[in-house]
Amino acid sequence: MEKEDVVIVGAGPAGLSAAIFTQLDGWSTLVLEANWVGGQGTIAYTVNSYPGFPPGDGAVLMNYMEKQVSSPPPDGVGAELKRESVLSIDTKNLVVTTEAHQYQAKAIILATGSTMQKLGVPGEDKFVGKGISYYAKRDYKQFAGKKVLVVGGGNSTAKSALVAKSKANEVILVHRRESLKAYPAMTKRLQKEGIDIWYNTEVREIRGNSQVKTAVVINNETAEQKELAIDWVIICVGTEPNTKLVQETGIEMEGRFIKVDSQMRTNIEGIFACGEITPGHRHLITAAAEGASAGMAASEYLALQMVKKGEMFEGAKNGKYASEYLAMLS
Ligand SMILES: Cc1cc2nc3c(=O)[nH]c(=O)nc-3n(C[C@H](O)[C@H](O)[C@H](O)COP(=O)(O)OP(=O)(O)OC[C@H]3O[C@@H](n4cnc5c(N)ncnc54)[C@H](O)[C@@H]3O)c2cc1C
Repeated sequence: MEKEDVVIVGAGPAGLSAAIFTQLDGWSTLVLEANWVGGQGTIAYTVNSYPGFPPGDGAVLMNYMEKQVSSPPPDGVGAELKRESVLSIDTKNLVVTTEAHQYQAKAIILATGSTMQKLGVPGEDKFVGKGISYYAKRDYKQFAGKKVLVVGGGNSTAKSALVAKSKANEVILVHRRESLKAYPAMTKRLQKEGIDIWYNTEVREIRGNSQVKTAVVINNETAEQKELAIDWVIICVGTEPNTKLVQETGIEMEGRFIKVDSQMRTNIEGIFACGEITPGHRHLITAAAEGASAGMAASEYLALQMVKKGEMFEGAKNGKYASEYLAMLS
């Protein structure tokens, strides 16, 4: 079994930020990623709320973070990044199992984020990739001259609609409530760009042959139902936290999320969680900030474990964690 001081599960902004802090403190850090490094940040369109990053493509920001984590010093911190999907976590022995390996960790940081929620209507599963997407960025080049239906009401939905409109002939946004959750400025932009917004409208079914052809929509106030000719449907109705890994592990939950304290500690010693898998805001900057907190807390935890065993570590010699160190000795 391979040994690491810290194993981080998930290489989104939360996991990558945590890695910067643990590796900088001198703990060998391994980040495991099941899909693509950068997580949801990579599919964010124009990121305009990340301090110091000029409004731009989320993929660019995540590429910077990846380089900072994996490049050797002085360009980065030199943590290890591996493309492996974590299958299970032994919370008692701090063992992380992937398809390829088992890792013995001294601390584990969970940063598995979330995935796009499904609409749950007939036809949805059949047409994924054949006229249904969960975000516009990947497929927008195919929208040229087409009629696109966007489903949802938040800021991400509004951004999807704007991305679609940059190529499509016509974009209709349907939302089941009487107003959007998106910022008012965003709603104004949608109107300015000529995007039709249908309030109190729900999608009941998506139909077609080999490709999407129509969507059945219903006005939930008047119960009027119609079948709308459409080329593409973008479903953008929120996200679901990736908590499958922690089921039946003894890690305490708070609703759909992992419960953490202010230092991102779970109820199990040595296990931390950060980003969208925990309750709180759902932004790149908050995920990164929580990742940083989790990294610092894990680092401090490891240092104190050494002190408890009577071992010296560089941080203690340099005065880092001095108060905790002194408290241990008193
Ligand atoms: C379309 C879209 C647009 C957005 N736009 C913006 C924006 O403009 N500004 C903004 O601030 N925020 C935006 N967000 C939100 C932002 O991207 C998220 O809040 C942020 O990425 C959450 O970070 P995270 O690290 O917690 O999780 P994620 O980014 O979800 O990363 C989690 C990672 O963990 C991996 N993982 C999961 N399970 C496992 C496993 N078992 N083994 C190994 N790896 C695993 C996943 O593959 C993923 O890469 C947007 C989100 C979306 C979907």
